[in-house]
Amino acid sequence: MKKSDVLCCLGVESTADDFGVGIATFKGEILANASSGYVPEEGGIHPREAARHHAEAADKVLGEALSKAGTKPTDLALIAFAQGPGLGPCLRTGATVARALASYLDVPLVGVNHSVAHIEIGKLETGAVDPVTLYVSGGNTLVSAFDSGRYRVFGETLDIALGNCLDVFARTAGLKQKRGMPLGAALEQLAANGEKLISLPYVVKGMDISLSGLLTAATTLLRKGECRLEDLCYSLQEHAFSMVTEVTERALAHTEKKEVLLTGGVAANRRLQEMLSSIAEEHDAKFNVVPRQFATDNGAMIAWTGVLAYTHGLVTPVEESFVKLRWRLEKVDVPWIK
Ligand code: AMP
Ligand code: MG
Repeated sequence: MKKSDVLCCLGVESTADDFGVGIATFKGEILANASSGYVPEEGGIHPREAARHHAEAADKVLGEALSKAGTKPTDLALIAFAQGPGLGPCLRTGATVARALASYLDVPLVGVNHSVAHIEIGKLETGAVDPVTLYVSGGNTLVSAFDSGRYRVFGETLDIALGNCLDVFARTAGLKQKRGMPLGAALEQLAANGEKLISLPYVVKGMDISLSGLLTAATTLLRKGECRLEDLCYSLQEHAFSMVTEVTERALAHTEKKEVLLTGGVAANRRLQEMLSSIAEEHDAKFNVVPRQFATDNGAMIAWTGVLAYTHGLVTPVEESFVKLRWRLEKVDVPWIK
């Protein structure tokens, strides 16, 4: 290990549309969190175009993170990268950057699970210790909690992710993604002016949810042009958020945990925060929400989870650092949790 006053880990995130580099100390201080987001010209994420964006942005984002942290590359003791789950071309680009850095600096490499990282950054930043977590983003919708050595999945979407559902609807309504204003946030603004709750499909199957019927019904009404857009945005949010809240509440009642954590890009939504906060209160649990800068995909969460993994004996030799497109949460070793 390199000699340095403060041991630091650099983390690379590249699972989907964001390329992020974060730097965390081994004590859990986030020194930098730089990123560049790929904005498709039209439609959703094109994996190969996103990967090209990541390859082109890597140099600049790395430089930004190192200069913000005031860290020389030779001060880094560890390189972490998001090994999965995610889009193949995007994951491979981040993994290549991480392998090159680790080999050049001659420091260990550690592959991190992206979903675990969203939970760990939420815990680090809020102080939550053992929460029921609702992780909602562009590609994931999971209700989980730690039990018997692993994070267990209590409920999930059977089809599309919550963020994806909001994004597809927003795009169909003609909303444009801008830097600093994700589609979900634009939809949230319109929803705030909704006045009428329109009845839409509400699908909870056991502990899982399905959002595709809701999306189809909402876009069908949108195309008919008979409803106010604000009312549709409001109704879509109310239905989708109630579904994930219902499942989270049942996981909370079952596990009897005393904390709820909301994490992932959609965690920035005020209405969703309000709903989860109210179920937490009913169960005498503390409600925690990840700060906005760590809600969406970011390198800091990968760096911090890399520290947790490495300091508990996990490393990823380069020959085992292939990416895992469908690496499920409950398959991940988390030896730092007792
Ligand atoms: P991630 O996949 O974690 O990078 O998060 C991106 C997702 O979060 C996208 O689907 C965004 O539309 C969504 N998102 C970001 N801000 C908000 C918001 N305020 N309300 C709802 N969704 C949001
Ligand atoms: Mg993203």
